[in-house]
Amino acid sequence: MSKLDYLIKNAQIVDGTGGPARCGYLGIKGERIECIGEDNGATAEKVIDATGSFLTPGFVDIHDHSDGVLEQVEYWDARQAGNLLRQGVTTVLGGNCGSSPLLIEEHLGKVAAGGVGVNYGVLVGHGSIREEYMEKRDVRPTLEDMKEMSNALRRALEEGAFGLSSGLAYLPGCFADTEELVALSRVLAEKGGIYASHIRNEDEGVIEAVAEAIDIGRQAGVPVQISHLKCSQPSIWGKSTKLLEMIERARGEGLDVSCDQYPYLASYTGLADKLVPIWAREGDELVGRLRDGGLAGTIKEAVKKALLDLGGGKNVLLTSCPQAEEYEGKRISEVARELKIDEVATVLRLVKLYPDISAIYFCMSEDDVQEIMRHPATFIGTDGGVKVWGRGVVHPRNYGTFPRVLARYVRQKRILGFSEAIAKMTSRPAKKIGLKERGELRRGYFADLVLLDPEGVNDCATYEQNHNYAEGISHVFVNGKLVVNEGEKLPDILPGKVLRRGE
Ligand SMILES: [Zn+2]
Repeated sequence: MSKLDYLIKNAQIVDGTGGPARCGYLGIKGERIECIGEDNGATAEKVIDATGSFLTPGFVDIHDHSDGVLEQVEYWDARQAGNLLRQGVTTVLGGNCGSSPLLIEEHLGKVAAGGVGVNYGVLVGHGSIREEYMEKRDVRPTLEDMKEMSNALRRALEEGAFGLSSGLAYLPGCFADTEELVALSRVLAEKGGIYASHIRNEDEGVIEAVAEAIDIGRQAGVPVQISHLKCSQPSIWGKSTKLLEMIERARGEGLDVSCDQYPYLASYTGLADKLVPIWAREGDELVGRLRDGGLAGTIKEAVKKALLDLGGGKNVLLTSCPQAEEYEGKRISEVARELKIDEVATVLRLVKLYPDISAIYFCMSEDDVQEIMRHPATFIGTDGGVKVWGRGVVHPRNYGTFPRVLARYVRQKRILGFSEAIAKMTSRPAKKIGLKERGELRRGYFADLVLLDPEGVNDCATYEQNHNYAEGISHVFVNGKLVVNEGEKLPDILPGKVLRRGE
């Protein structure tokens, strides 16, 4: 046998399939895993003694939003994907929640040309397709619109998209009815790929919204991925049991339905998206409607109720908005006090001045998060993306999602076994997406690997200190290249590949 590039010896190997750890050796040659198992006497350029550490496949972030940033070549720091690699993520799937670039070939070409630290695949967004042909309007598609949208989807899938994502709580995805989504999903069924959905409603209407996602899968015959499943306001806490039963029943029927989750009690989205009703924002005409006395009163009532449902403005923490840095990191309650106006007026003033301002919402219960995590059809996803260290206020999930599951939910709360948690982060999402030769530690597979200390792994990012790398992850390999060494990200290497469905 020719000399290996790396030999990792005495590791507790967890291969990603959910089976128990076993002590062994793993050899890397070029991009691939050359051998795995017992010591076979092979020699290597570099030997890593992994005594006391666990060796797992690199984590697959099935719910990622890096597509927008990776479009922009100048974001060299972001392309390094340090925040993802330092938590063990080696592959991401962007284009979630209905929003993505439309021309997939062109997009993937740009990402490949600029380089990227992690492997990168993308979904095509239903909202982006709809906006292209029908703007942000509350209208039903004509036959011609349907034809155009189907063609755009077909082309994206032919160019390598891994499926269709919908964002039914957002403009303009919210204006699509089930029938439209089924018709488009039939194109998916024909070409292959998953239907990933940020469902229509994550609060009072969550049951109907999960039912709709399942129904689309059933009618069109496509695999369904329910994005970041949660019960997102106190009035519906406890409904996770029912939601999981529905998923369970669908799986019992033979439907391929699964979901993903980030392990935090706070969500993140646009301030207007969460607090201002959709009808008031249709066509991006909120400002005009607020000038109309009658409408303005109705909008204010709706914002008041939305804030009340969340337990008030103290549970809404503003994140980065380049034009409004003075509000970054502050709660709505705090800003209202500063401005000497009430919380409703504060929200409306902010969304008028800064339509893109976003926030973190403390809205979930620990019980629901645990219940959802326990289910074998739940995978782990950041709902984040590549970030530049230190820039702006971001949700801690961008730095801590995967280590937090291993630290808080495996080691401290013991709600999952270690191998089970790793399966949710590796082989299961890889299989769902249709990734080839990734997601498991097997001879001949790509060498995407994580070496970590199960006793020392910790997420360190918090809502206050959000740019904090995780600890306890000592080595990460992407396509056989070492990118995190002894806990430090190696600078300026971009070993990720652009992935296309079916390749
Ligand atoms: Zn989403």
